[in-house]
Amino acid sequence: MLHEKLLKPSSIAVIGGSDHIDHIGGSVLKNLIDHGFNGQLFVVNPKRDIVQGIPSFIDVTLLPQTDLAIIAIPAKDILEVVKELVAKKETKGFIIYAAGFSELDDTGAAIEKEITELISTAGGSLLGPNNIGMINEHYAGIFTRPLPLMDKKGVDFISASGATAVFTLEAAKQIGLRFSNLFTVGNSAQIGVEDVLEHLDETFIPEESSLVKILYLEGIKNPAKLLKHALSLRQKGCDIVALKSGVTEKGNAAAASHTGAMANSDLFVQALFNKAGIIRCRSRYELITFGAILQITQLKLKNFAVITHAGGPGVIVTDTLTQNGLFVPDLDDKHQNALKQLLYPGAATANPIDILATGTAEQLEQVMVYCEDDLEEIDAMIVIFGSPGLGSVKEAYQVIHNMMQTCSKPIFPIFPSVVNVQEEINLFMQKGHMAFSDEYIFAKSLAKIMGNKTLVIEPYQNPNVNDAKIRSLINGFTDGFLGPQQANTLMELAGIHTPGQVLVKTENELFQAAKILHYPLVQKIIGPLHKSDQQGVIVNVANDVELIHNFKKLMRIDDVTGVMVQEMIKGKEVFIGAKRETGFPPLIMCGAGGIYIEALKDHQSVLAPIGKTEAIGMVSKLKIKPILEGMRGEPSSNLEAFYDAIQKVSNLLEIAPEITELDLNPLILTEQDIIAVDTRIKIEK
Ligand code: ADP
Ligand code: MG
Repeated sequence: MLHEKLLKPSSIAVIGGSDHIDHIGGSVLKNLIDHGFNGQLFVVNPKRDIVQGIPSFIDVTLLPQTDLAIIAIPAKDILEVVKELVAKKETKGFIIYAAGFSELDDTGAAIEKEITELISTAGGSLLGPNNIGMINEHYAGIFTRPLPLMDKKGVDFISASGATAVFTLEAAKQIGLRFSNLFTVGNSAQIGVEDVLEHLDETFIPEESSLVKILYLEGIKNPAKLLKHALSLRQKGCDIVALKSGVTEKGNAAAASHTGAMANSDLFVQALFNKAGIIRCRSRYELITFGAILQITQLKLKNFAVITHAGGPGVIVTDTLTQNGLFVPDLDDKHQNALKQLLYPGAATANPIDILATGTAEQLEQVMVYCEDDLEEIDAMIVIFGSPGLGSVKEAYQVIHNMMQTCSKPIFPIFPSVVNVQEEINLFMQKGHMAFSDEYIFAKSLAKIMGNKTLVIEPYQNPNVNDAKIRSLINGFTDGFLGPQQANTLMELAGIHTPGQVLVKTENELFQAAKILHYPLVQKIIGPLHKSDQQGVIVNVANDVELIHNFKKLMRIDDVTGVMVQEMIKGKEVFIGAKRETGFPPLIMCGAGGIYIEALKDHQSVLAPIGKTEAIGMVSKLKIKPILEGMRGEPSSNLEAFYDAIQKVSNLLEIAPEITELDLNPLILTEQDIIAVDTRIKIEK
């Protein structure tokens, strides 16, 4: 929980406050004053008794009791100050800007830890160190500029990085995006992004709290917490957008399993975002564009009217929306004729509606009114209006402003002339509006938001297996990869079928096996991890003669201890895998399987637990899906069995934390069933 005195202090001391507004301590003090903090302000500065008109004390020991300390002095001096504040001044809120702590070296980390423990023991809250602070409706505790436009209904912004926050605030100012809260967490010594999100969740008030959260993340320290509160906020009607840096870390190419090689850390992050219904974006500009669209409306929109006086951007918006699942429907003749009456000859009325470069503000208004009143199928308007630099667009922007006050349909302004009519755009934004400048980024973001509107939360159901039996089997395992027989037994208990198979080590055993199993058979070596790489898998074995010949050949391969003889299954090869990463729920993958799995790269991943809707969703996104359904007269494979197996693997990983990696590659999907012919499971207790 974030302490009330951090959030709503009645007194703030700026330790290191000064008259130099280009210094951190001077700048934050100015921001606090400019933002109109209406509690008591103090400064600690060894050389002054008044700083920027605020009473200043030469030493922290002389300070009166203070709720919040904003500490703007170098790292080396901070510990002593915190000790005094905690012990003598009843201070519970701390913002520490200085760098030079855990991000620097071990000594810094030790001091950071000591400071954090002091504050935590006293029941206080620490934001930072190594951040730019926070702003809410009560005070502006940041030292950077510009101060963002604030609005109770604006977006909540949580940033792991101070610098990125500043650049994002600048970009936000350009399009008029407003904020209700900004938190920067820096080194997250005590409070991380997840903790702020928890706070926003737990203090959420319907009808009052902001419904849009934008996040900039570096690491994710506590994925479970992020997931829990993101989901909870989504259920309360919030939209969450996140930019996460550090995505290029490579999967471990030397991993022993296919899943291990394919599931890099970013796949976990993406799966977490998907599960939580967090929209992911890739740039600061996208982040604020998402935020701004969601500020204009949180409705689920489908059909758009594109109104413009410039053909190009209108077509770009239309292309982008259409390619991404939204619609710019053609208007029927009745409406087109009505619109033609309003416009100059040559104007386009099919949608996009192009009022021509010579079109007037009045015509723009009439078209917008028509869209609002007469075009029932239209959910929202996108109005693109720039200037060739030859005249003012004041009147047009006034029309758009008026329409935004009166229309029930959402209106998205795109003003591309950021240089030619900068003044008019600023004037428009001063009225509380936002304006986008790039139609492509806007349309892409809009489509992504609309695609993310439905949040499916399924109640979890055990997929009909005996968890207790599985547990007792696993309790008996030791660390390392399971042998083929152990793995098969586990699969059967988990509810996934395996082929008829016998492990043989001698020719005698081979003859016995041939009597039980049905040809055609498959023979594969036991010992080496990747059997095909050693030419250790022979399929389509038709008779005893071939069987014995192959056996002799396979037993000569290095490190081979035996041969598995399996019944050959005819069907489509798919795979299911699972992997863990600290703090995350298990990641379950599924996809096209077989020996070319890494080359095919056709896979989907979801965090466990997985319900049926999610399993269906995973499979439906696979490129191989139509092939599984049967093409060119082929019968369909049993997709239900595939969905079921995904849920069973998810269940297995949930009840067996000892399984760190699992590969079922391939599973053979037939018309009737799904059969695991090659199972690799790693146990770490
Ligand atoms: P590895 O992955 O170690 O190379 P597999 O047991 O997966 O060995 O076998 C390699 C390939 O052989 C599979 O991808 C599949 O195409 C085929 N195969 C293996 N076992 C069977 C089986 N029982 N029925 C049908 N095909 C099989
Ligand atoms: Mg295999």
